[in-house]
Amino acid sequence: MLQKHKSQLTLLFITLSCIFLCQCRNEQKIKQPKLIIGIVVDQMRYDYLYRYYSKWSDGGFKRLLTEGYSFEDAQYNYVPTFTAPGHTSIYTGTTPAVHGMIANDWYDRSSGGMIYCTDDATVKTVGSPSEKGLMSPRRELTETIGDMLKLSNNGQSKVIGIALKDRAAILPAGHSANGAYWFDDATGWWITSSYYMKQLPEWVKKFNDEGRTNQYLSKPWTTLLPIEEYTESIADNNPYERPFFSEKSPVFPHDLPNLKPQNGGYGLIKATPFGDDLTADFAIAAIKNEKLGKGKYTDMLTISFSSTDYVGHQFGTTAIELEDTYIRLDRDIAQLLSFIDTYIGKENVVIFLTADHGAADNPHYLADKGIPGGFFDENEIAAKIHAFVKEKYGVDPILQFTNLQFYLNKQKIADNKLNLDTVEEAIANKVIEFKGVERAIPAYRLYTYRNDFITKKILNGYNPSRSGDVIINLLPEYIPYDTTGTTHGAPYVYDAHVPLLFYGGNIEHGKSAEEEAITNIAPTISELLGIQYPDGCTGEPLHITMKH
Ligand SMILES: [Zn+2]
Repeated sequence: MLQKHKSQLTLLFITLSCIFLCQCRNEQKIKQPKLIIGIVVDQMRYDYLYRYYSKWSDGGFKRLLTEGYSFEDAQYNYVPTFTAPGHTSIYTGTTPAVHGMIANDWYDRSSGGMIYCTDDATVKTVGSPSEKGLMSPRRELTETIGDMLKLSNNGQSKVIGIALKDRAAILPAGHSANGAYWFDDATGWWITSSYYMKQLPEWVKKFNDEGRTNQYLSKPWTTLLPIEEYTESIADNNPYERPFFSEKSPVFPHDLPNLKPQNGGYGLIKATPFGDDLTADFAIAAIKNEKLGKGKYTDMLTISFSSTDYVGHQFGTTAIELEDTYIRLDRDIAQLLSFIDTYIGKENVVIFLTADHGAADNPHYLADKGIPGGFFDENEIAAKIHAFVKEKYGVDPILQFTNLQFYLNKQKIADNKLNLDTVEEAIANKVIEFKGVERAIPAYRLYTYRNDFITKKILNGYNPSRSGDVIINLLPEYIPYDTTGTTHGAPYVYDAHVPLLFYGGNIEHGKSAEEEAITNIAPTISELLGIQYPDGCTGEPLHITMKH
């Protein structure tokens, strides 16, 4: 009797525990977002969030800031701060030292030439007769968040990457993505590669057939708001901008229909805010047609807005063109957030927004304000160093100078009975004599060199099998670039400090002033989903306040 009573109690306990556990599990399931959307704004500096604040609509950046959680001191923790390393670090949670994307292009010792990060001759373009689809993520050495999501449930999550730039679509989506789509200049269409699929989905074909690229390029680019309201920018006609393709002066309106035939055809859209409009349209079409967030498992969409980068390079950080591009991007983001409200509800999505790097102010502009800076002529230094080593050693062992790194021919150095360390040291000591050079480190000394923030960033960006043998860092505000427009790549805040916003799900509104590395994003998403971190992850989860 007692025994029976006991077993009944045990049964009751097991049943209650089961109900309790099941409820907990269900509760967790409900809280788990149905869709993760990662947004990267190419070249968006942290300060733009507030510089243009008075121009934001209620539904875009302002909504992310007032409803979401903002990390005000998100920093890139390596150099060079370029597009491919930036996008890869966000989604892998590690730096180029580990994920291997050390730049957009680099010198490849095995083939003896320059390679592009996502080039892949073993695949074919899907969706166009052009060769712009010979791309894949095969050189990305580690997993992305999308890979982890798919590994967590036997591939049942959908993961898709979208960007005008191939590398900005491919590298975030990762190795096991369902698809990555980018822009084909030759046709104005969204394309992919045979790495992902044999043919474009019907909805992509239909989107391309609608001819939106042509529609966006059929009228001149004028400012969205009256031009006199662009008080955060300098004069429309200023000496720091590069002329917009064949235009006589870089001023509004930019006559796109007339510029198009002689200036890149459909590709012209990339250097206008309409490239971002097209990206937003396509991203919304992808969510709807792929039914992202409507399945049993969490899906993921990675979107990168590339036009901000093209416009930034072209016109610089102080141009009305750049301000207008951000004002229009704000409306794109508002459109996306409003679509999510009705499609799935804010509580079922987690969105993060950040940038792959920032940008320097144009050094001439700074000089006119008495601020130090300058231009660094890479061709000139390369020629002079080639001549220097040839004279010193009687042979020239330099294979390539790229990304501010000298690659040396180690075999040639050995054959000529020279010492590699000594040659590296001699080049570094010569390079430091050039104007604008902050330091030049022989690779063999990287691990023992003065351990300040710059060396740490160089080390995080240094991949022994892919990086060069002498690594140069420039002084602040020195750029290896044309004298108009601007670029990025440095360890300093203007290139390293970016926005980082989280929004949706049960994320509370708030902000943190703590310095956070960009590599902390991926483990944060992993923790939110209860899945493993990507294999190379060196970051740690961010502390975001959550509603209970
Ligand atoms: Zn970029």
